[in-house]
Amino acid sequence: MGRMPTLHAQSIAKTYPVADGELTILRDASLALERGESAAIVGPSGSGKSTLLSILGTLDFPTGGTFELSGESPFQLSEPELAAFRSRHIGFIFQDHHLLPQCSVLENVLVPLLADGAAGPADVTHAEQLLERVGLAERRHHRPAQLSGGERQRAAIARALLRQPTLLLADEPTGNLDRTTADAIVNLLLELQQEQNAILIAVTHSEPLAARLQRRYALDDGRLIKQ
Ligand code: ADP
Ligand code: MG
Repeated sequence: MGRMPTLHAQSIAKTYPVADGELTILRDASLALERGESAAIVGPSGSGKSTLLSILGTLDFPTGGTFELSGESPFQLSEPELAAFRSRHIGFIFQDHHLLPQCSVLENVLVPLLADGAAGPADVTHAEQLLERVGLAERRHHRPAQLSGGERQRAAIARALLRQPTLLLADEPTGNLDRTTADAIVNLLLELQQEQNAILIAVTHSEPLAARLQRRYALDDGRLIKQ
């Protein structure tokens, strides 16, 4: 029997019930990626990119298809097991950073550990090292509102990478940034993805970002097409 790819999504479908039947967002999305690989997902607004990313991130359930990550089938886990699996294996970077406004940068980076209990001194040291790595060491006690857009995305990247996830998911990670800042963020994201040997999937409208990833897929009428 052949070994399964680290990430294996097969014929993922997503429909929503509506008054007169069902609304199909995803018909057939299949994707296989190994650690260290990267893929861009492009497509017009409303084509289901964020929906697909949420399913690959186990934040949303598919209505069809199968998904395996790191030898597990997350959608067959119980809710608490799924939360632990997500926190261990998946890191998210969103367009609007989703940092907690009342917490410092350092506390925000430590948030992924809270699912498994409190953060110990070794975790704080690790988070500080990551903040050093993303160029925010001196801003670790700032609140998100005290940071620039690029700095917030650096903090979000550090948070996503704290647990060395198998899968790094980015939804329009440079969507709110100017070109120069976006280029620096993409460089940092790719460097850290390679260092950690993570899979990176980025949904993006940005040609410069898509061009930097190894593979490119487009969502068209609910189907994921390799380009
Ligand atoms: P994209 O990220 O490509 O812009 P989305 O994945 O956000 O697209 O949305 C795809 C489609 O799914 C949209 O038409 C949206 O209206 C629909 N959609 C998203 N969430 C729901 C929901 N909870 N119920 C019904 N339709 C939804
Ligand atoms: Mg979207």
